[in-house]
Amino acid sequence: MKKAKKQKHKMHLEALKKADKLLYSLILREKERQMQGIELIPSENLVSEAVLEALATVPTNKYSEGYPGRRYYGGNEIIDKIELLAIKRLKKLFKAEHANVQPLSGSPANMAAFFALMKPGDKFMALRLDMGGHLTHGHKVNFSGVLFKAVHYAVDPKTEMLDYDAIEKLAKKEKPAVLLSGYTAYPRAIDFRRFKEIADSIGAYSMADIAHIAGLCCAGVHENPAPYFDVVTTTTHKTLRGPRGAAIMCKAELANAVDKAVFPFLQGGPHENVIAAKAVAFKEAMQPSFKRYAKQVVKNAKALAEELAALGNRIVSAGTDNHLLLVDVTSKGITGLEAEKALEKAGIYCNKNTIPYDKRSPWDPSGIRLGTPAATTRGMKEGEMQLLAYLINRVLEKPHSTATIKSVKQQVQELCKEFIFYA
Ligand SMILES: *Cc1c(COP(=O)(O)O)cnc(C)c1O
Repeated sequence: MKKAKKQKHKMHLEALKKADKLLYSLILREKERQMQGIELIPSENLVSEAVLEALATVPTNKYSEGYPGRRYYGGNEIIDKIELLAIKRLKKLFKAEHANVQPLSGSPANMAAFFALMKPGDKFMALRLDMGGHLTHGHKVNFSGVLFKAVHYAVDPKTEMLDYDAIEKLAKKEKPAVLLSGYTAYPRAIDFRRFKEIADSIGAYSMADIAHIAGLCCAGVHENPAPYFDVVTTTTHKTLRGPRGAAIMCKAELANAVDKAVFPFLQGGPHENVIAAKAVAFKEAMQPSFKRYAKQVVKNAKALAEELAALGNRIVSAGTDNHLLLVDVTSKGITGLEAEKALEKAGIYCNKNTIPYDKRSPWDPSGIRLGTPAATTRGMKEGEMQLLAYLINRVLEKPHSTATIKSVKQQVQELCKEFIFYA
């Protein structure tokens, strides 16, 4: 295995150390946990030192309800420049007509987008949650399922991939106001152009939630719907590698509706320190190094999937086109929950996940979901993915063996030492 160059970013916490030893020590322990384990949860990533620094800055002190140039508080002349910079960069990054960078996280971004496009009781169409959709795509315990009428499409039972003809047929029958694409656990490329055609054919709004794949979309590694979709929501903390938060992009004619839905409808004062950190992340994502990163994320996911398959694990949809994969661990005689817990003990973090047409419950489903954004940020490449596949497979084959877990954990820690990201 080729040694990658070590990246080390320092955390400066002198004042915190003095003021609050207990909290300081907890933060340090969490940093150690992150550095001593392998993060394969596909929705997680590690931000740069520049993003971390921007987060911990004085714009956190400022109230700036409203938008640049029309705030409800004085003293916003510099905050306006920060927010405008974030907006300008995001629009350029995704070739979007309009951008709102205030959403506090992905779920409120979706709520705002829904209210910009629909009234309560209106119908939208999205992927079933047990096949990769998100809670905010119409789960009955979520606002999206309570306030709106959700109709769900499914993946094809044989290929476990989206069936666009079936989606078109259902859309023509149901005539939803919004056709939503973009997912939380779908390992394959999404044909956004086809979704746009289907939406146009029934007069529905085209909306994409690219929370997971945003970093791949802006890097040209996945089709980017932002230039031609009506509305695109995204988180900023997943493959985009920015601070925890979100953004909405839309067509110019929907700008007013989207902005009003974020504020004053849903949110109060925006978190301008986070917006500053988003601006930093957007600049980072424009660099050639980020394109290389996004490409490597996908290469790593493919390498992990191929090696796990070679070791006898069933990969949902027989592979991946993006940053994540689903493994049907029942092919090894265990459940998703058992797999997640055993891997956690070995310092490998992932999450249990339903697989399409799962016969088990969401609490203990048949699969696990693995992703490569964070490990790739640490500098890992295909060689490390092969090693990880081997280690994961050892745990999956003997989830109850303390000796196996201990030995895998040791190898994980050896690997981690080579790829320290935060010093
Ligand atoms: C993560 C995610 C969200 C929600 O983001 P939060 O920041 O956790 O609220 C929304 N949609 C999709 C598809 C996601 O994967």
